[in-house]
Amino acid sequence: MTEQKLVQVLVDCPGMDGMLTYAIPDGMNVMVGDILTVPFGDRFVGAIALEFPTSSNFEGEIREVYAVVSTGLFPPHFWQLLTRTADYYRTPIMQTVKAALPPRLMDQSSYRIRIDREVSSSLSAAAQAVWEFLQAHVDRTGSVSRRYLYQKLPRLAASGLRSLIQMGCISTVLEIPPPPQPKYEDVVVLLEIVDDLTARQREILTILQRLGGECIRSKLIEQAKTTYPTLQTLAAKGCISIDKREYLRLGGKAHFVASDRPKQLTSAQQAAVAKIQTLAPPNLELLLHGVTGSGKTEVYLQSIAVVLAQGKSALVLVPEIGLTPQLTDRFRARFGDARVNVYHSKLSEGERFDTWRQMLTDTPQVVVGTRSAVFAPLSNLGLIVLDEEHDPSFKQDQPQPCYHARTVAQWRSKLESCPLILGSATPSAEMLYAIEGAVGRQDRIPTSQYITLPNRIGNKPMPPISIVDMRLELAAGHRSIFSRQLQDSIERMLEQQKQGILFIHRRGFSTFVSCRSCGYVMNCPNCDVSLAFHNPTANIPIQASHHASPIHSARINAGDLRCHYCNFTQIKPANCPACGSTYFKHFGSGTQRVEQEISDLFPAVRMIRFDSDTTRNKDQHRQLIERFQAGEADLLVGTQMLTKGLDIPQVTLVGVVSADGLLNFSDYRSGERAFQTLTQVAGRAGRGDDPGEVIIQTYTPEHPVIEAVKDYNFDEFMQVELAQRQALNYPPSGQMALIHLSSEQSIEVERAANQLTNYLQSRSIEWEILGPVPALIARVSNRFRWQIMLKFSPELLPQLPQLEDLRSQVDPKIVRVSIDIDPLTIL
Ligand code: ADP
Ligand code: ZN
Ligand code: ZN
Repeated sequence: MTEQKLVQVLVDCPGMDGMLTYAIPDGMNVMVGDILTVPFGDRFVGAIALEFPTSSNFEGEIREVYAVVSTGLFPPHFWQLLTRTADYYRTPIMQTVKAALPPRLMDQSSYRIRIDREVSSSLSAAAQAVWEFLQAHVDRTGSVSRRYLYQKLPRLAASGLRSLIQMGCISTVLEIPPPPQPKYEDVVVLLEIVDDLTARQREILTILQRLGGECIRSKLIEQAKTTYPTLQTLAAKGCISIDKREYLRLGGKAHFVASDRPKQLTSAQQAAVAKIQTLAPPNLELLLHGVTGSGKTEVYLQSIAVVLAQGKSALVLVPEIGLTPQLTDRFRARFGDARVNVYHSKLSEGERFDTWRQMLTDTPQVVVGTRSAVFAPLSNLGLIVLDEEHDPSFKQDQPQPCYHARTVAQWRSKLESCPLILGSATPSAEMLYAIEGAVGRQDRIPTSQYITLPNRIGNKPMPPISIVDMRLELAAGHRSIFSRQLQDSIERMLEQQKQGILFIHRRGFSTFVSCRSCGYVMNCPNCDVSLAFHNPTANIPIQASHHASPIHSARINAGDLRCHYCNFTQIKPANCPACGSTYFKHFGSGTQRVEQEISDLFPAVRMIRFDSDTTRNKDQHRQLIERFQAGEADLLVGTQMLTKGLDIPQVTLVGVVSADGLLNFSDYRSGERAFQTLTQVAGRAGRGDDPGEVIIQTYTPEHPVIEAVKDYNFDEFMQVELAQRQALNYPPSGQMALIHLSSEQSIEVERAANQLTNYLQSRSIEWEILGPVPALIARVSNRFRWQIMLKFSPELLPQLPQLEDLRSQVDPKIVRVSIDIDPLTIL
């Protein structure tokens, strides 16, 4: 018997998690990443070829691969990138592949048979039948749907296709949806109002001026009640120009975005763009450290323009796309709809699949996406930009692989010799550690270059930050959640008709509901946390509230109680379930509470609430921001989401209602995180012509983070931070891994945690094992949680257990285990 060639595949079948082994029939050529059809039970399913084992210990018959559907779907280094990700994050390759690929890739109906050339020799009966079918059914792209062929010729399709492919007459291709066609509109632009005009002509120009000096032709004709010939006369006089411009589809609906031309770079920006041009192996990485509003995005745009002109593509990774529609708009306005693809998890499955296929084309393009877009299958990558590199949403926390898009981007940049720009106003400890002169780098070889944009565009000053000591407020008998200083500033802002942002670090009305008579607290029945109060009726839009009306306060006290961990929801009881008291109220200062107190203090204020309650779908962010931008509200009240990329010139005031929740002392990263968040929020103020002002309220003004934020003392703060971490072997000089265990049975999970700890100790590797301990929230969704932390020196990583090792130490039916390499939080 000849030796069988084997292939291990991932089959596309819900619930099938393992790799399956198939035999490759003689004459069939299979490569890693090929999409196959394999027999599975009594049917055929799609599969992806992953590995070629030399022998199989599988007892019994090994079934044969039925057909190769498509080959060459992935760029050259793609599998190396996935293997590296799987290995580093100690995750089975298959699970990693699932995280990286879009759904439906293995679905046969997405493929077409394409005729490449005429048949020259004689054919078998099956091949002849297939060939004739193809001839009769090709469409204008010269191809036929594969599913259709299989439907019509069920018994002949596979073998017929096989021999035609071998003869080189046909190939199977993934169907590429047509790219969006740019749409053009005539746009009228005001140039000059000359003297010799009729009153009517002058009136038309005044209307155009009021419309911002730029307007779509049809809209202007309608608004000014004029005609096209009249406009042509004005154009002939040189008063206006009429040009075709691209009309962009943004956020689902089309709306006009003023065409955007490259800006004249400042000298600091010029230096950055020039530096990016010099990036070449082995120095491919650049940390671009620029304060908010310093023009980083313009640096990306102009560097990408160079890449596109070279016929290459660019990948732009951003933390959360829904939150930064403005950023996507800027890429589209600069490069046009047809060249910009957006890829993120809020797209539907179909949209994700279509975008994926669009990315497979050779057309130079820009892909803007969130963390999973780091696996975008662009074949000719010329630049990767990772904006806001410090942002924690680049890290996946579950399921495994718990990858960090920055780490994967760093590998990808090396594998593909492609420059990587990491931008931030508040770079992470990891990136600061990577540059020259970092504290505690033994090797002293920087892995990243560094360049800074120290000033805002136009040398606008950073807004001054004042810290308000809330203890003094209380001592002075002032009990509002708004200090007198913040109230004064809001009042001034309203008088001057500017806009402001109030930042709260938690969503919901309050953190918990409790009884003021007996102290009873409503907890989640499934988790060890208290339920949060939400008031869905007091939702946006918030008009100037007619405060003190009884309806208003009744509305405020009615609402839902919700668990932020398992989403358990119930209606808030009017009375305390324990003692029946009517003093059953919410505490804390979530967005809704802030909203209510503001309307009590400033009845005329108009507010927009921006948190995950008011922004459930992908267009709501954009709508809320656009309404705020259009001046429909004076104040934007919101959570963490507000910290990101918001660029609204009219905002002069930023207030942080309480910084204390950010200063969580039990996680070694909390200082860095608090600094970043507060600085980012502050950066929203004073981006326009009017100077900004930032007020941070806190009960601990002496906290080092607060003191550093106050003076924008970033470098010094981070140097101290790096030195402290170095002393304790914390990342980035040391490395950590967190092993999570959970079970419905509290005794079992504790036993498993101890067992696993013993196992790790027996491995006699020079790591520090901390724990096992119950997780900070010891129960979520009725599962009890424990964790074990490993602290080790980075060269030991390859010795860390694989997920499969850990699983083999416990009973996987009772206890779930996962491992998180480089966890962002250790709580
Ligand atoms: P960042 O990304 O660092 O926050 P942006 O690139 O968004 O900064 O720039 C801030 C503002 O300045 C934006 O409104 C942008 O259009 C404008 N801007 C950027 N570069 C220039 C430049 N060279 N000349 C004029 N305006 C600029
Ligand atoms: Zn009670
Ligand atoms: Zn819960």
